[in-house]
Amino acid sequence: MGTVQEVRIAKRTGFCYGVREAVDKAKESADAGKRTHTLGQVVHNEGVIADLGARGVVSIAELSEAEVGSTVVIRAHGVTPAVRSAAAERGLEMIDGTCSWVIGEQRQLQGLVEEGYTIVLLGTPNHPEVVGLLGFAPNAIVVDDEADWDRIPRRKRMALITQSTQPPWKFERLAAFMVARAHELKIINSVCPVTIRRQEDTVELARAVEFIVVVGGRQSANTRELTRLCEIVGTPAIQVERAGDLTDPGVFGDARIVGVTGGTSTPIEDLEAVAERILTMAGTHDAAADAHALAVAALGAAVTPAGRTTSLRGPDPAASGGAGQDRPAGPPARRVSRRAVPSSAPASPVTAR
Ligand code: SF4
Repeated sequence: MGTVQEVRIAKRTGFCYGVREAVDKAKESADAGKRTHTLGQVVHNEGVIADLGARGVVSIAELSEAEVGSTVVIRAHGVTPAVRSAAAERGLEMIDGTCSWVIGEQRQLQGLVEEGYTIVLLGTPNHPEVVGLLGFAPNAIVVDDEADWDRIPRRKRMALITQSTQPPWKFERLAAFMVARAHELKIINSVCPVTIRRQEDTVELARAVEFIVVVGGRQSANTRELTRLCEIVGTPAIQVERAGDLTDPGVFGDARIVGVTGGTSTPIEDLEAVAERILTMAGTHDAAADAHALAVAALGAAVTPAGRTTSLRGPDPAASGGAGQDRPAGPPARRVSRRAVPSSAPASPVTAR
């Protein structure tokens, strides 16, 4: 018999508004009777993909796979202008599920190109969002980890912008690094506020529990960052994609309170399933016997309207009306002098915005 008495789920988990709206748009299109495709998986989650598939939504890798006259939903990461043109030329209806924050980034990039800046984009090469952004600034220099940064040239007028889900500390460090490389440095802080809140809530949870399970895709950068932050806090953590990945009760040691958190593309249903699994396999006699009810209660205590999996239904009218309440305005831009750049050494692992 295990030792886990309680599972707590991080506040403000579940889909971010960008992912939720893209999923909703695909569902609405299919429900309206349109032959609907998503260009790439709208979210890397088996349950969500199966649900979409059951409604008739088919994921395609290339526009050429879509029949003429069918509908293609652009996912939250966005696409290049060339992809939009190609969809129109092929006679496809395009439904734009690009997250409004990402649209803001694309516009900012376009402005930087017009203003003649040498642009550095902090991001994961080949990540779909980065690929889409490069469509607006083909000459931008993409850098990721610190080992990459020596490739950044010295130029008179430089601009720095970031993929939305990069960790804020890395962005700040790169900004400080670039101060010495330019006479004028324009910084667009386009780290998504939803990502920052997710990290803050995860750190708060990690400090309150003895073990934490991070749920999300192995390829998801924002999920990996949550795991890293738990380790910085000093709370043992494991990352899983789904409840079924938890097979060894021994990983929980003698933890009594276990936390569960998830990335921006992890549906709340997965968090509840993981909570139940933890209690079933590693809970005390009472906790294991009541695992389902305790998991439902943990989710009920944690989830906010922002964490809903869909905006299309919901018994609580207040909840279904809150679709946009976690939506920030577009990324802010500010020009800084060399001395005005933020510190490269944040005091805590998470930087408040
Ligand atoms: S993480 Fe932020 S920018 Fe990315 S899809 Fe979600 S809300 Fe949009």
